[in-house]
Amino acid sequence: MRMIVTGGAGFIGSRLVRRAVELGHEVLNIDALTYAASVSSVWDLEEMPNYRLEPADITDRAIMDRLIADHRPDAILHLAAESHVDRSIEGPGVFAQTNMMGTFTLLEGARAYWTRAGQPDDFRFYQVSTDEVFGALGPEGRFTETTAYRPNSPYSATKAAGDHLVRAWHQTYGLPVLTSHASNNYGPGQHPEKFIPKILSRAIAGEAIPVYGSGAQSRDWIHVDDHVDAILTVLEAGRVGECYNIGAGCEFRNIDLARALCRLLQTRRPSHTPYTDLITHVEDRPGHDFRYAIDASKITSELGWTPRYTLEAGLAQTMDWYLTHSAWWTSILERDNRDVMGGGAAAGGWTLRDSGEVAA
Ligand code: NAD
Repeated sequence: MRMIVTGGAGFIGSRLVRRAVELGHEVLNIDALTYAASVSSVWDLEEMPNYRLEPADITDRAIMDRLIADHRPDAILHLAAESHVDRSIEGPGVFAQTNMMGTFTLLEGARAYWTRAGQPDDFRFYQVSTDEVFGALGPEGRFTETTAYRPNSPYSATKAAGDHLVRAWHQTYGLPVLTSHASNNYGPGQHPEKFIPKILSRAIAGEAIPVYGSGAQSRDWIHVDDHVDAILTVLEAGRVGECYNIGAGCEFRNIDLARALCRLLQTRRPSHTPYTDLITHVEDRPGHDFRYAIDASKITSELGWTPRYTLEAGLAQTMDWYLTHSAWWTSILERDNRDVMGGGAAAGGWTLRDSGEVAA
């Protein structure tokens, strides 16, 4: 298949791109290389004849048109996004630009290309979305594909807007689309600002581990490679116009997960003072969703997908990766700190920029 992957230098995108290249697909990776990109996660792929990285912004219609026309994709897998909830609270503008206008621009580029090509049935525009569009659950129940959208953060609201555009482009213009909603991803190579890498990097550095509020909020965790397999399964066999929830049934309260990671680290790198002592409760995030939980029975029963990682095995693998790649995440933290001090990309800018990171 000829594929365009947007956001293919990000956490999930880089794993997806790697898998797609391994499977022999012709992959064009379009990524604006924001602070969230890890170019070193895809450096080695430059050697492969079926892979190319194009640093470009999805909100630029002229460039999207040119890249789509040149690559002639059978599928566009759309992952590029601003993805960090805390940053969306501090500066929602870039979230609206990328997650809403970027999706709109890409849809229009895809529609023009698909129309020129004679509207082939087997073309796919795949929107990679999140369960956060559904809002918060109470103590019971799970999100299904028919749960009403009730996004609470600027991040989830802008992702929801993107999803609605994708649905409308299918209903109105007949563009063959697919959408999936995954739960919280974890695994090697995730930016150290995200929950699990933050706990790991702080604990390894012997620094305070911040947990919002009481930590009673719970999240449903999936290993990034299980998410990638699910995306490729939906791409291959998902029914056009349908949505699929992707989750691994690993629900944990934040405080329990933080403690479990600290205990696991104690077995890997014993410390005189227990790592759990580093856990520090900090003021809760505004609009903090109480609970997410995914009902993934549709993708399992319809497409036969099931996750391979247990949370135990996935967390152990992830922890070992962060222990052996401290140069990678330390260089990212240092670079982002410099950018914040200098008001650069990490402070909300989204210009193309060189990566200051050390190889992953
Ligand atoms: P990420 O922040 O690690 O990566 C996003 C990538 O998009 C980065 O490489 C960045 O440079 C690129 N990007 C940002 N703005 C761009 C623009 N305007 N043009 C081109 N590229 C741009 O995010 P992630 O965690 O890998 O998430 C990928 C996708 O999966 C997102 O759409 C996200 O909403 C969705 N998702 C993530 C999770 C999760 O837990 N991480 C869960 C469900 C769904």
